[in-house]
Amino acid sequence: MASTSHSVSGEGPAVVVCGAGAAGISTAIAAARAGGRVCLVESNPSIGGTVAGALIHTLAGFYDSSGEALNDGIAFELLERLLAAGAWRRRMGRVWVLQVDPQVYQHVAQHWLASLPNIDIQLGARVTRVHQYGARVRGVEIHSHEGTRQIDVRSLVDTTGGGRVVALLEPSLVDHDDTAAAGGWVFRLRNVAPDAMAFPRGIGVVRSLRDAAASGSLPRDCAKAWVDVGLTPDEVYVKLFVPLPPSRDRTDTLARVVRRCENDQSQVLAHLRTLPGFRDATPHGEGGLGVRDDGRVRGEYQLTRDDVKALRKFDDVAARCAWPIEYWDREHGVVLDYLDPGEYYEIPRRSLRVAGVDNLWAAGKCLSADRYAQASARVVGACWAMGEAAGSHAVADGN
Ligand SMILES: Cc1cc2nc3c(=O)[nH]c(=O)nc-3n(C[C@H](O)[C@H](O)[C@H](O)COP(=O)(O)OP(=O)(O)OC[C@H]3O[C@@H](n4cnc5c(N)ncnc54)[C@H](O)[C@@H]3O)c2cc1C
Repeated sequence: MASTSHSVSGEGPAVVVCGAGAAGISTAIAAARAGGRVCLVESNPSIGGTVAGALIHTLAGFYDSSGEALNDGIAFELLERLLAAGAWRRRMGRVWVLQVDPQVYQHVAQHWLASLPNIDIQLGARVTRVHQYGARVRGVEIHSHEGTRQIDVRSLVDTTGGGRVVALLEPSLVDHDDTAAAGGWVFRLRNVAPDAMAFPRGIGVVRSLRDAAASGSLPRDCAKAWVDVGLTPDEVYVKLFVPLPPSRDRTDTLARVVRRCENDQSQVLAHLRTLPGFRDATPHGEGGLGVRDDGRVRGEYQLTRDDVKALRKFDDVAARCAWPIEYWDREHGVVLDYLDPGEYYEIPRRSLRVAGVDNLWAAGKCLSADRYAQASARVVGACWAMGEAAGSHAVADGN
């Protein structure tokens, strides 16, 4: 690992949290509550990460198989705040989720962050350099349209969802699969007849997409599309299945994938409008391209599929998770491997601590895990719980 000399200005070392998605928001709140000065850096113009950006309305990982809250602390507080803002707990087959409008989630999180005076939120900004001295990160360079700042670092938490900041320090500390899990493209419809998705009609809607894809009147991958009820009686969410090419970081590749998603969206909409109750359906927002696995860091411990299946518990527990291994295979679609009813496994703090650097953490979907463990641990509730553990320990790091 390179060590670099640096010049740093500012008001004393900060806990720098890079990425304001589920894990980053929670990390920032936990670190601020623990008394840290926090700098939350987000490359997008607004906070909310994948939930707000990819229109996720069924937040998973908050409940066990009987619908009881799995984690206390900040994740539990979020549940209470979202329930008070109109969200509700919903059973989906063998699991429970929190049904919430992604914009409501974003507003609740924004309001929460704004209530904490020691969090400096930098939107439209990114960490461009990490300065390491010995086994510690000492500073970062943050670039935004206002220019470049240097900040003294107490500890650094990578919550970018892909280990982007850890890779700046040392690319080999981030693992990427050759064949990445499939992504998704979600769009929302309004003006759907309130009973169009009532049981068993909803099953018929999904089956109709499958049949149309099999007969060639819709693109092949539309066979794996999912249609779900929304937050209002006339609202429906459609989740398209998107196999991702290995080189999706390239702008031209990404633009091609997005164009294909837009094309699939308009064809699926045209098809849905031929079905009972969908004639007047109108688009009401679409998410950006959603990436489920964008790279995972190498931590002091790598959580594995065996740990998840064995319901393993750890002395240094950071979070509990009961979500099935939900692996989105780019060829075969989603495969769900459920935990035993009433059971959960634990995510250890060591899988959030980046190997070989004392004050460098990663939380959320880029935790240290194999692809199957990540396919369970990446759900939103677990990301919030991991964020709390990383944030509170990141403050302790500098003491
Ligand atoms: C299509 C799809 C459907 C899903 N469905 C569900 C579901 O129904 N229920 C569920 O619980 N989970 C679902 N998930 C998974 C879940 O949404 C994510 O795993 C989780 O939100 C990840 O949170 P995170 O905080 O780790 O990362 P993210 O929410 O992705 O946040 C990372 C943030 O970091 C920012 N960032 C990235 N790079 C930089 C940088 N260099 N500098 C500064 N900022 C940066 C990003 O802009 C982003 O805001 C789904 C995921 C996808 C893709």
